[in-house]
Amino acid sequence: MKKKVIIVGAGPGGLSSAMILAHRGFEVTVVEKADRVGGRNSEIKVGDYSFDAGPTFLHQKFTLDEIFAEAGRESSDYLDFVKLDPMARLSWSDGRTIETSSDVEKMASNIAENFPGNEEGYLRFMDDHAAKLRAIYPVLQKPYHKLSSYLRAELIKVIPYIATTKTVVDVLDEYFKDDRLKLAFTFQAKYLGMSPWKCPGLFTILSYTEYKFGIYHVQGGLCQISLAMARVAREEGADIRLSTPIKEVNFDGKKATGVTLENGEVLEADHVVMNADYAHAMVNLMNGQSKEPAEMAGKKFSCSAFMLYLGLDKIYEDEPHHHILFADDYAQNVNDIQSETEVSKDMSIYVRNSSVTDPRVAPEGHSQLYVLVPTINVRHDQDWEATQQEYRDLVIDRIVERTGMKDLREHIVEEKILSPAGWRDDYSIFMGATFNLSHTLDQMLYFRPHNRMKGYDNLYLVGGGTHPGSGLPTIYESGRISSNLLCDAVGKEYSRVDLAPALLDR
Ligand SMILES: Cc1cc2nc3c(=O)[nH]c(=O)nc-3n(C[C@H](O)[C@H](O)[C@H](O)COP(=O)(O)OP(=O)(O)OC[C@H]3O[C@@H](n4cnc5c(N)ncnc54)[C@H](O)[C@@H]3O)c2cc1C
Repeated sequence: MKKKVIIVGAGPGGLSSAMILAHRGFEVTVVEKADRVGGRNSEIKVGDYSFDAGPTFLHQKFTLDEIFAEAGRESSDYLDFVKLDPMARLSWSDGRTIETSSDVEKMASNIAENFPGNEEGYLRFMDDHAAKLRAIYPVLQKPYHKLSSYLRAELIKVIPYIATTKTVVDVLDEYFKDDRLKLAFTFQAKYLGMSPWKCPGLFTILSYTEYKFGIYHVQGGLCQISLAMARVAREEGADIRLSTPIKEVNFDGKKATGVTLENGEVLEADHVVMNADYAHAMVNLMNGQSKEPAEMAGKKFSCSAFMLYLGLDKIYEDEPHHHILFADDYAQNVNDIQSETEVSKDMSIYVRNSSVTDPRVAPEGHSQLYVLVPTINVRHDQDWEATQQEYRDLVIDRIVERTGMKDLREHIVEEKILSPAGWRDDYSIFMGATFNLSHTLDQMLYFRPHNRMKGYDNLYLVGGGTHPGSGLPTIYESGRISSNLLCDAVGKEYSRVDLAPALLDR
C-alpha cells in the first residue's frame, strides 16, 4: 500500500516536495490555506492586472530544471522562460547607472565605461567565484541534521569560505574600488533579506550565480512556476486542496500522525511535510508542542518588504524590466532596516516593469509595475495601517524623480498596497519577515531548523525556514532534500538528477 504524505502549504517548498514524492509513488495530499497555490510566489490579481506577489528574479534556473527532471519532466514544456539581457538597471542618486549582464564581455565593458578601473576586479571576481561555487554547491544539497555532517569531505573543503568573519562587503572590497559598484554585487543579499555588511561572505556566490548563469523571467509572471509545479504534482496523482487551512499537526509522542483541519476534519498520514512559514508553524500549528511567540522572537529574522502593485493605462517602453534605485545613503538605509524600528524616508526601491517583456500581465496597451521597498519587519509592531498611504506617496515621489516615469501618477488606474503587517496577516509570515530566519552563521547548516525536524520521527520541513535557506532555488532544493530523507527513512529507492556539476565545471 502507498505511504500517505500530507504536505502543509503549497508554496514553492511544498510544491517541490509534492512533485517529487508523488512521482516516487507516495499518496500525496497538499493542504493549502489560501484559495490559490504558490504562497509568496502566487499571483495577485488587481482588476485586470496580474502581479507576482513575491519573487520576480529566477536565478540558478538549473535547480528548477532539476526538480522538474526529478518528476520526469522538462520545465520548458510547462513554462515560457525569457533570459533577460540586460538583467537589470542599477541607479544611484548622483545620476550614475549601469546595466548588468551575464555576458562577461558586455559586463566588463559596461563596468569599464561607467566605473573605469574596476573591470579587472570583475574578471577576477568571476574567476575566483567559479571555484568558490564549485566548492559550496554540494554543501547546499545535503541535509545537516547531524553534527557529524560537519565532517563530510565536501564541507571540510569549504571551511575557508564559511568559517570566516568576512561579510559580503568585505569580500567585495577585495575586487572593487568603487563603493557604488560594490552594491551591484551585494543587492542579491535581498533574497536573504540581509544587510551586505552583516551577511556572511560566503553569499557572494549569489551575485556570482546571477552574473554567470543569468536571470530569467517567466511569461505570465514567476507565479506561473508555482502553477506549473502544481500541475505536475496533480498529473502525478497528488491531491491539492485549496482553501484548506490546518489547525494543527497531530502527534503520538515523537510521531506526527496527520493534521486536523480548521473545519475539524482529521487527515491521517504516515509522514507530514511542513511548508508553512517555519516560525509561524512552530508558534501556531504544533498542537500541544507549539513554541511561545517570545521564544521564537529570540531568533534573528530577515527584513520585510513594503509593496505597491500598480496597474497603469500606458506602457513605459523605455523603462527597464528590472530597475534598482539605491538610497542616497544606502548604508544608512540598510542600518535603518537592521534596527527593526526605523522606516527609511531615504529608501532603496526595486521597480519591475515586466510589461516591456511580457504582454500577458496587463490588458493590451496597459502595463503593471511591481514596486518593492525593503523595510523593517514588524517585531516592534509598526502601525502600518496608519502610515502606509503616506509612505506610498513618498515611494511614488522617488520613482517619479529618479526614473523616466514623470507622469506616473496620472496613469495609475488600479493599485494595491501590501505592508509588512499584510505579509504577517494575509500570508501567515511570522513578524512579516518575508525572507524568513536570517542567514547568520548561527542559523545556518546544522544550526538552521533541520529538514527532518529535530525531536520528531517523521515531520519534515521545506521552504525558506529550513536548510539550505530562502530564495527560490534553495527552497526547491529543500523540497528535494526533505523528500530524499523521507525516502531514505522508508527504504524507497530513487536516483538523483544532477544537472549542475556539468554547468559548474564550465
Ligand atoms: C516580496 C518578495 C520578493 C522575493 N523575491 C525573490 C526573488 O526575486 N527571487 C527569489 O529567488 N526569491 C525571492 N523571494 C524569496 C522566496 O523565494 C519566496 O519568499 C518563496 O516564495 C518562499 O517560499 P516558501 O515555500 O518558503 O513559503 P511560502 O511561499 O510562504 O509557502 C507557504 C505556504 O503555506 C501556507 N500555509 C500557511 N499556514 C497554513 C495552514 N495553517 N494550513 C495550510 N497552509 C498554510 C501558506 O498559505 C503558503 O502558501 C522573495 C520573497 C518575497 C516575499
